[in-house]
Amino acid sequence: MSSRVYYTKPSITELEVSYATDAVRHGWGDQCYAYITRFEQGFAAHLGAKHVIATSSCTGAMHMGLAALGVGPGDEVILGNTNWIASAAPITYLGAKPVFVDVLPDTWCLDPAQVEAAITPRTKAIIAVHLYGNLADMDALLAIGQRHGLPVVEDAAEAIGSQWRGRSAGTLGAFGTFSFHGTKTMTTGEGGAFVCNDDSLYEKVLTLSNHGRDRSQRKQFWSDVVGFKYKMSNVQAAIGCAQVERIGDLIAGKRRIFAYYQERLQGLPLRMNPEPAGTVNGFWMPSIVVDEGVPFDREDLLQRFQAENIDGRVFFWPLTMLPMFEDQPEHTVAYGLWPRAVNLPAYHDLSDADMDRVIACVRASLQR
Ligand SMILES: *Cc1c(COP(=O)(O)O)cnc(C)c1O
Repeated sequence: MSSRVYYTKPSITELEVSYATDAVRHGWGDQCYAYITRFEQGFAAHLGAKHVIATSSCTGAMHMGLAALGVGPGDEVILGNTNWIASAAPITYLGAKPVFVDVLPDTWCLDPAQVEAAITPRTKAIIAVHLYGNLADMDALLAIGQRHGLPVVEDAAEAIGSQWRGRSAGTLGAFGTFSFHGTKTMTTGEGGAFVCNDDSLYEKVLTLSNHGRDRSQRKQFWSDVVGFKYKMSNVQAAIGCAQVERIGDLIAGKRRIFAYYQERLQGLPLRMNPEPAGTVNGFWMPSIVVDEGVPFDREDLLQRFQAENIDGRVFFWPLTMLPMFEDQPEHTVAYGLWPRAVNLPAYHDLSDADMDRVIACVRASLQR
């Protein structure tokens, strides 16, 4: 049987191994924050952001960020329906309600017109999730936020390497969050980051992230508010330091893979991740969406992948199909996308020959 094609896996070199080894051996005592500080500075420099707080996950970063914005019981937070649950769950942790809106057929991200229509007096924030590297329309969303006095925040977990008019995804809104889970473009095993340019929001989240201890507080073990514990460890940050040094290369790898797929799938009745003028797509997950009206059976393609020892990965469900949320089939774009869409394998060392195997399955499935 031919070798397994994973849908994603990290790129780990001797650099990650040497930094992690050094952190395990020496990163204690007065060195216990050294890699964390260096990682935060390195990632901030990559993004062109003022402040970065390393966290244990993107979910935790979003939880703290929304808490710092004052989101609480009875509030509403708007986000797109086609999403991973991690973007919505922190809203519920705070006792607020996720308000889902339909997505756009080309970017698969939240539709600004639907966002504006969903605003009520209880709306507290808008979360723009940049799905699979594709950018939400930040010009439109920021204008809506400004008109209604609402913060637009960015879940940029899937958008490392994506840029909107020359600015990094995750740095345009009130704050941005990132994930360094093992499936993401860069990894620390598990991990995340809170990113912002605003000094006072940064101080708030820094205090929250430190069990509510203000950094000017001189009394030991004295919390000023109830905070959170979502910290990244020094060992994880050491891996992150190596990944940040290699980030240009990691992003280039995603773009190489996307270009290869796109060129060889041209002419088939499907669309892939868009990259409109004025944007750069980090292409975390190259994805196909088969044109409407074209016979396509997602299960058939997934079975072909399985037979070829290729990991299949389904497109996100509309979150309102899940049991904890209310069904909203009127979101015809979100409900129409998932049966016609599949993510393609994409990891740094994926070879052309292995991508050819993936492409052959897609072709066969469309030419039945
Ligand atoms: C992966 C991901 C998350 C969750 O990240 P964790 O680090 O696992 O908490 C959140 N949002 C999006 C869009 C993601 O892709």
